[in-house]
Amino acid sequence: MAETIGFIGLGIMGKPMAKNLIKAGHSLVIYNRTQSKTEELVSMGADLKNSPKEVSANASIIITIVSDSPEVESVILGKNGIIEGIKEDSVVIDMSSISPITTLKIAKELDQRGVSLFDAPVSGGEVGAMEGTLSIMVGGDGVIYKRIEPVLMAMGKSVVRVGEVGAGGFTKLSNQIIVAGALQSISEAMVLAKKAGVDMQLVYQAIKGGMAGGRTLDMKIPAFVDGKFKPGFKMDLHIKDLKNALLAGKSLGVALPSTGLIHELFSACSAQGEGQKDHSVIFQILEQLSGLK
Ligand code: NAP
Repeated sequence: MAETIGFIGLGIMGKPMAKNLIKAGHSLVIYNRTQSKTEELVSMGADLKNSPKEVSANASIIITIVSDSPEVESVILGKNGIIEGIKEDSVVIDMSSISPITTLKIAKELDQRGVSLFDAPVSGGEVGAMEGTLSIMVGGDGVIYKRIEPVLMAMGKSVVRVGEVGAGGFTKLSNQIIVAGALQSISEAMVLAKKAGVDMQLVYQAIKGGMAGGRTLDMKIPAFVDGKFKPGFKMDLHIKDLKNALLAGKSLGVALPSTGLIHELFSACSAQGEGQKDHSVIFQILEQLSGLK
């Protein structure tokens, strides 16, 4: 019999991912802190519960996708958390982007209950979540992985097990360092073009087929041209990822100089009240620094 899946966290990413699981034929029990975000899924047949504890008591595979490490810890280990309702041999898959150090701590607690934790953060943004084309980087037990792989395949196009639990998180931090660097350099390049009076759309057309072309450029150019920064991926969440990358770098003795610089620039952007906008809003801050605003 197919396993019932618990799903906790129905934000920009979680909601479309949960919808894809229902479309693939899975039975879902769901929880979200803000209940209004659950209505569409309930209308599709999902069973709404009042706490993560109630979700874990009624499912054998439980997925979480919330904001950062403290939120994941609270949803899994906190009062009325997953750990209070979970049955032995269940599997928890955390798809949030968090500190792998927290992941390892949670894995240890769950292991004492006979429960396996996987970290399976995602890349591909809101569009990838809606289209079911996410890239999913998975850390966890190689044998149990076979049990969860079909569930992950309903949400992603590329699902790769990168190692034991924690490895998914380190892979995601690497991903976020690359995206931040690309976004920063694309923003600087486009501000230069704009101040020189060259049409940004034409710059994009001219360079997209060359070595500077790529997915970040393709995805973010409309925001630069329109000056609209609706998330997408919130700036505050990217700052959180860079903070976690820098902490990981410190704990492992890895120098991440440009990540540190971009973290400071992104943080300045948030300090100006732009943290809930799409991370491409860094373009606007560079415009200000360049006297364009
Ligand atoms: P979001 O729209 O801000 O959603 C955050 C979710 O976490 C909401 O369901 C929120 O509940 C829940 N939450 C936050 N704090 C909580 C708490 N203390 N207790 C219980 N639930 C809590 O964020 P998102 O964009 O979906 O991102 C979710 C995760 O995916 C993050 O780790 C992010 O870095 C990662 N991610 C995002 C993207 C992207 O493009 N958006 C891409 C890849 C990875 P409420 O509804 O009650 O606020």
